[in-house]
Amino acid sequence: MVLPIVAYGDPVLRKVGKEIEKDFPKLDELIENMWETMYNASGVGLAAPQIGLPLRLFIVDATPFAEDDDLTDAEQKTLEGFKKVFINAKIKEETGKDWAFNEGCLSIPDVREDVSRKDTITITYCDGDFKEHTETYDGVLARIIQHEYDHIEGILFTDKLSSLKKRLLKGRLANISKGKIKVEYRMRFPNMKKAR
Ligand SMILES: [Zn+2]
Repeated sequence: MVLPIVAYGDPVLRKVGKEIEKDFPKLDELIENMWETMYNASGVGLAAPQIGLPLRLFIVDATPFAEDDDLTDAEQKTLEGFKKVFINAKIKEETGKDWAFNEGCLSIPDVREDVSRKDTITITYCDGDFKEHTETYDGVLARIIQHEYDHIEGILFTDKLSSLKKRLLKGRLANISKGKIKVEYRMRFPNMKKAR
């Protein structure tokens, strides 16, 4: 089932996600709905707060980036078919140099900005079967995971922009929260005026 994606301005996007217990009711169904919702919106990642649930859960499918001609063959190969569920993730370490990458977010349609983050991360998480993993990623893969991980910490990519950029974006972000935008997928807007 395609769920509505929560838009910028909703308080749920500002909550630190709660850990998920192994016996969380209907977790498989929730994850299945998140995949459907993400693909329907042509996203490469989706975090539970974006569908209104303040939980430490996000999904990533980096496959669309495998066709990015700006990347090397080796990078394209690692991105191809990278599809994972991250439950109760914790970034243990971020290393390497800062680099800028143009980010967007399904909760903030039509806004894309260069964001600077460190190159390499080490993360522990449980997969969909609650098997624990510790893995190290770099480049675009690390970038997608850092963006989604921020969601479960209540952080949005626009928080990381310069104060000038933030000021310039203020009106557009306010319009998004009011639903004054054109978007191809289902959304829920926190400040939309109810029609009477
Ligand atoms: Zn996002």
